[in-house]
Amino acid sequence: MNQRQLFLQHVGQTSPEPLALEITKAEGALLFNADGKEYIDLIGGISVANVGHRHPKVLAAIQQQLDAYMHIMVYGELVQTPQVQYAKLLTQYLPASLNNVYFTNSGAEAIEGAMKLSKRYTGRPKIIACNFSYHGSTQGALSLLGDEYWRSAYRPLLPGITHVNYNTQEAIDAVDTQTACIIIETIQAEGGVKPPKAEWLQALRKKCTETGTLLVLDEVQAGFGRTGKLWGFENFDIVPDILVLGKALGGGMPLGAFVADKTIMDSFTLNPVLGHITTFGGHPVCCAAGMAAMQALLEENLIAQVHEKAQLFISLLQHPGIVAVHQYGLWLAVEFDSFTTNKKIIDACIEQGVFSDWFLFAANCLRISPPLVITREQIKKACAVILEAID
Ligand code: PLP
Repeated sequence: MNQRQLFLQHVGQTSPEPLALEITKAEGALLFNADGKEYIDLIGGISVANVGHRHPKVLAAIQQQLDAYMHIMVYGELVQTPQVQYAKLLTQYLPASLNNVYFTNSGAEAIEGAMKLSKRYTGRPKIIACNFSYHGSTQGALSLLGDEYWRSAYRPLLPGITHVNYNTQEAIDAVDTQTACIIIETIQAEGGVKPPKAEWLQALRKKCTETGTLLVLDEVQAGFGRTGKLWGFENFDIVPDILVLGKALGGGMPLGAFVADKTIMDSFTLNPVLGHITTFGGHPVCCAAGMAAMQALLEENLIAQVHEKAQLFISLLQHPGIVAVHQYGLWLAVEFDSFTTNKKIIDACIEQGVFSDWFLFAANCLRISPPLVITREQIKKACAVILEAID
């Protein structure tokens, strides 16, 4: 049984059917099955394919790196390996205090790195996470996960982690001088696109600074333009101590990263020197792909179109059957009265050539986080299919 079927069982579907979707090719914001049937992709690999599937520049960069070498465990700052080049590109577009990039294989591994780095730098035992948060599925990331159902099978969890409610004073009050870090998603993704109040995030930033606690922002979904700015935190006028990236970072290839100031990152090289060691983290092919994707994102001015495309979705998704549309940038959670309604709509949409799904902690919400290259025509078509599926 796959993840999706297990989930269906969890939400009360006793005989979950497999997803009726067998994709053999993807291009831009479209997916195709073996018969050539076309689907508009409203998921984009869950915020992976921000520049679209199989972007020509990404494919060319991958080929070029394959022609050179795949993996050699030599980072060679002088010969400008893809890791070094990509780290330079990223830091060029980040605030001055986020100047050291540590590449990993995935978002979850980057979260593990951020947790370890926070403990190492502060020498403190406590980590705070939020309810309804998702940070990945490794043991440490699962310990942060904001839902008891998903955590419960993996006890004993990592010690020292407490959970608080996002966007609340309680979260700010919980931060004290024993806290290594508080880890939050800049915009709660799997909770159904829940942004923070700017004042809350700013007050949290202040409390972290006052107590010497590191503020870790998980932008595995929020990074790379989805929010209308390159980085999610830019919308709230704050800078984290550690930024966690993944998904779109690799342009479709597996890549994660945690980014911090050198003074923080240097604590990984203290005695013992075992900071975070990873054989494939920052794989040259993945870094080459990610760098090409980030360049394409910037060159094609995709971020500037985010708000207009989001408004088009919102203006078209007007229907008494829709309870609410939660939205931040080109990232929408269309709420229905129940999971059962949502599932029916998702299935009907797939039948009509529109691919969507639900959110992990908001199963009654239909996910819209398409490649940013989605066209206005594709948005209109997708919305028409959704509305028809509601009726
Ligand atoms: N953080 C967030 C916000 C995520 O959505 C995810 C994955 O969905 C992760 C971390 C984990 O990333 P990965 O699946 O690459 O381990």
